[in-house]
Amino acid sequence: MNDAPKRSLPEEVTATSEVAAGAILTVDLGAIRENYRRLKARLGNVRCAGVLKADGYGVGAGQVAAALLREGCDTFFVALLGEGVALRRSIGPGPAIFVLNGIPPGAEPDAVAADLCAVINSVGQLAAWREAARCAGRKLPAAIQVDSGMSRLGMAPGDVERIAVDPHAFDGIDIRLVMSHLACADEPEHPANERQQLAFERLREMLLEAPASLTNSSGIFLGARFHYDLARPGAALYGINPTPARPNPMLPVVRLEAKVVQTRMLEAGAGVGYGHTFHTTAPLAAATISLGYADGWHRRAASAAWFEGARLPFLGRVSMDSIILDISALPPGKLREGDLVELLGPSQSVDDAAGHAGTIGYEILTSLGPRFHRRYVGG
Ligand SMILES: *Cc1c(COP(=O)(O)O)cnc(C)c1O
Repeated sequence: MNDAPKRSLPEEVTATSEVAAGAILTVDLGAIRENYRRLKARLGNVRCAGVLKADGYGVGAGQVAAALLREGCDTFFVALLGEGVALRRSIGPGPAIFVLNGIPPGAEPDAVAADLCAVINSVGQLAAWREAARCAGRKLPAAIQVDSGMSRLGMAPGDVERIAVDPHAFDGIDIRLVMSHLACADEPEHPANERQQLAFERLREMLLEAPASLTNSSGIFLGARFHYDLARPGAALYGINPTPARPNPMLPVVRLEAKVVQTRMLEAGAGVGYGHTFHTTAPLAAATISLGYADGWHRRAASAAWFEGARLPFLGRVSMDSIILDISALPPGKLREGDLVELLGPSQSVDDAAGHAGTIGYEILTSLGPRFHRRYVGG
């Protein structure tokens, strides 16, 4: 060992470098831009923001923001203060960044330093933001969120009435938006949509004249009454179908491919994977791919991968770093070590994968793990 030539560590090999990663996530920024244009076309003169919470639904907030900026988008929404600061670092000064979950008590100076817009969800947060404005010696931008019926975030009607009659409620605050969020927008026939729209109408009339925002992706398809001054789509930008009962009007954005690490013939009667939940009944061609639940492909999401149009069902349980596939649909020798099989893409959309897993596309996307090699195309 001591005679071995000394070699430095391979600096270019990281967990996510192309050669080392088990799987490759390709994000089509051109498709995101086209999806933004399609939503804008539906909105007419109504402005369209971009929702970038959870690192841009798992696909990369900085890259998505850069793509949307090139389409003229100038307003972004994140969930958390940290996401807002990271986004400001990435895009620089100028565009508005709203923090949906509000500014944590005591962190107001950090939000001011990063020029973030607070989404104010309570009377207490309103007071804290007024105080922050006093300390900063200037007006601070904010959105007032009202609860029109989702019961998640925002001021209750009683709180709105209280602040509406307080002449000093908004001292030092530049109200950029009065907003609320729809609970059932992906179900066009759901009576809650109508109820929320009427409740929002009443609540916003009590507040100062300010631009209003009610709709997420699906709400854009409910009609102009829901559009107001600014729409806040997230999911549809990333290719998730905003109209689940109808064909997807959006372009797919992500492609996920995993590397084949081994192919082999299993003998009849072989137990496959943890717990031997599957046994072969006859010799079976199998392949093991380099992607597992640690990459966000959950055990309960078991289904299939695809290769050149052939469906390759999962065998047994999903492991932490690997999945075993039945490749008997392919001619012998067709699939080789190092080949890439598709988990998400033209053969299996994000919504398809979600359907198999009994969940929604949002959860599939935001679960996608940090170990993938990421490729951004079409920027
Ligand atoms: C997540 C979120 C959105 C975007 O919703 P999509 O269904 O992804 O379009 C808009 N507004 C608020 C308040 C949100 O939390």
